[in-house]
Amino acid sequence: MPDAEREKAPEAALYQTDTIVAPATAPGMGAVAIVRLSGAQAIAIGRRLWHPLRSRRFDSRRLYLGEIRDPQTDVPIDHALAVFMAGPATLTGEDICELHCHGGPFIVRRIVGLALAQGARMAERGEFSRRAFLNGRLDLTAAEAVADLVAAHSDAALSQALAHLNGALRQRIEGLRSQFISIRAHLEAEIDFSDEELALPSRTALAQAVEALRVEVAELHDSFSRGRLMREGARAAIIGRPNSGKSSVLNLLLGVERAIVTAIAGTTRDLIEDTLSLEPYALVIIDTAGLRHSADEVERIGIERARAQARDADLLIAVFDAAQPLAAEDQEVIELCRGRPGVALLNKSDLPLVLAAADLAARGLTMPVVAISALRGEGAGQLRSCLRDAVAALQDSGGGPGQIAISRQRHRQALGLALDGLATARDNLRAGLPPEIVAVDLTQAVDALGAICGEVSSEDVLDAIFREFCIGK
Ligand code: GDP
Repeated sequence: MPDAEREKAPEAALYQTDTIVAPATAPGMGAVAIVRLSGAQAIAIGRRLWHPLRSRRFDSRRLYLGEIRDPQTDVPIDHALAVFMAGPATLTGEDICELHCHGGPFIVRRIVGLALAQGARMAERGEFSRRAFLNGRLDLTAAEAVADLVAAHSDAALSQALAHLNGALRQRIEGLRSQFISIRAHLEAEIDFSDEELALPSRTALAQAVEALRVEVAELHDSFSRGRLMREGARAAIIGRPNSGKSSVLNLLLGVERAIVTAIAGTTRDLIEDTLSLEPYALVIIDTAGLRHSADEVERIGIERARAQARDADLLIAVFDAAQPLAAEDQEVIELCRGRPGVALLNKSDLPLVLAAADLAARGLTMPVVAISALRGEGAGQLRSCLRDAVAALQDSGGGPGQIAISRQRHRQALGLALDGLATARDNLRAGLPPEIVAVDLTQAVDALGAICGEVSSEDVLDAIFREFCIGK
């Protein structure tokens, strides 16, 4: 039995005997809610709860109208559509029953309770998807793509998640793995037939092949920043001295009273963030505490966090009060912006102006400058288009859209391990080390790649991935 299967076997065996149930729709009131059962008893339990109104024969995967009744008392609970799907060609690879009931939280709780009383177990977070993975219906990159689809905030995030769901990343990884395996096969041939006259590739040719593969893996590894931008959106921190109008700018961009705007300096002590749609991208905007020297301990912590956010953000939105001369605190803002992408705002342009773009440039600011009045909502269009350009430039700097990109730390770490294995294999080949040693380096790299799709996976990794899912997914 291959290693991967051996690792999966005990858990898969448990799943075959266990039937799970959970609402598949979000909690709360809605037109329809779906209660989903999966496992060996899914159909039997479903049939004990649900009774057809008309039809006597049931085809797999067809919806039928019926009534849900408490099997103990025969009391009717709801009218519901039911669909029964026989495994293994189902979402989870097991038998599935879905009950489409009216979307009231009490009804849903009641139906789930009836299923539990009939021997089902409450599903854990992501357990349906985990079963799909363990039963070979989804690889890990596709399972992660499902979570990404649900969490998507933009067309860019959607298209990337769909590409991964359709197997784009898996195919790329499999392509790389097959190159690895062919290099390793040459090495193994050298180990097995070292005394015989075989036309094996030279050490130099093998080292070149390993290096070429390392460059390909490095490209995928380095696509992380672009992939993350597509998945999560870019992060922009609004920075500026207190009262320059940072919270007002956030509200202007989001079009809602999201941050508290007051005339008291130092009101935004904590970080407020929200997502702005700049189609096709999303931009996460973070309002930070005003930068200034403060004796107040709580405010000082807020200011430190603001500096950290400014350092970590992909973009900066620097706000200056154009009705005031530049102050010492503004100089810190200019320093933070040095060499960073983003946009500088001359805010309060409705008031008599004492500050111009040239004053900022003279102090070393190189960002594009936009004059706005956050109070009156003037300049919002130009600000949005500047931000869109800045986000598009970030995307392009990471290799351009359309190419496959990784978007998760897990993928990046695995590719990092594969890169280490390849670099060591290349160096050891060049140094003339025995093929056995080089084969070990390559095996480490192949395993790291395999982990991305779930060929080799530990319980901890699976827990971390499926914990992200909601109950019923
Ligand atoms: P923050 O401390 O930088 O977040 O600044 P706020 O957004 O809380 O604004 C501070 C004060 O400046 C408030 O009284 C706002 O009403 C005012 N303010 C913000 N933007 C403008 C503007 O464009 N024009 C004028 N006249 N006042 C503004």
